[in-house]
Amino acid sequence: MGDTILVATHNQGKLEEIVHLLQPFGVTVTSAMAMNLPEPEETGTTFVENARIKSHAAAQATGLPALADDSGLEVAALNNQPGVYTADWAKTSKGRDFEMAMTKVQNLLMSRSAPYPRKARFRCTLVLAWPDGYDDVFSGRMMGQIIWPMRGDRGHGFDPVFQPDGYDQTFGEMDQRKKNIISHRADAFRKMAAVFD
Ligand code: IMP
Repeated sequence: MGDTILVATHNQGKLEEIVHLLQPFGVTVTSAMAMNLPEPEETGTTFVENARIKSHAAAQATGLPALADDSGLEVAALNNQPGVYTADWAKTSKGRDFEMAMTKVQNLLMSRSAPYPRKARFRCTLVLAWPDGYDDVFSGRMMGQIIWPMRGDRGHGFDPVFQPDGYDQTFGEMDQRKKNIISHRADAFRKMAAVFD
C-alpha cells in the first residue's frame, strides 16, 4: 500500500480507532486534521457516497492514498434513522452534542412505544481512494440494541446507548481494545485486510 496513508476524518474519536485498526498494515498514518485539509460537505444520501466525497477530496488534495469512514447508527423501530444523518442529529450551533442526539433517539422510541429489545446496528463503509481516481470499498456492521439510560464514558458518539449482541456492556463501557475487535469498523477493516494481505 506504500508508506503513508491519509485518514480523511476530522473526528478525533474515529481517528483514534482507525489508527489502532491500521497498525497491522505497517503504514505511516497522517490525517485530514493534521494536514489542515478543509472538511468537504457530506452531500451524499448513502454511506458510500459520503465516504467517497471525503476520501477522493483528500487524495486529490495531497496525492496520498486516502481512507475515509462514513458510519452511523440504524435503529429498526425508527425506520433505520438516523443512518447516514447520525452526525447531523448531534449538530448544535456550538458543535456536536451526542447526549442530546442520544436523548432524541430515546424520546422517539418512547413516543412510538417501541418494543424491546430495541434493535439497532452500527454500519461502517470504508472507501480507500487512490490518487489516480480509483477506489476500493469495504462495509462492516455490528448488530445490537439501544439501551437507556446511557452507560459508560469510554468511546465516542452513540457508544453509551449501544449494547452489541452477545455482550452485557455498552460500547461506552467496553474496553476500547475489545470494541476494536468486534465493532462495525473492525468488520470493515478485516475485509480490507483480506484484500491487501
Ligand atoms: P460521519 O461518518 O462522520 O458522518 O459520522 C458518523 C457518526 O456516527 C459519528 O459522528 C458518530 O456519531 C456515529 N458513529 C459512527 N461510528 C460510531 C461508533 O463506533 N460509536 C459511536 N458512534 C459512532
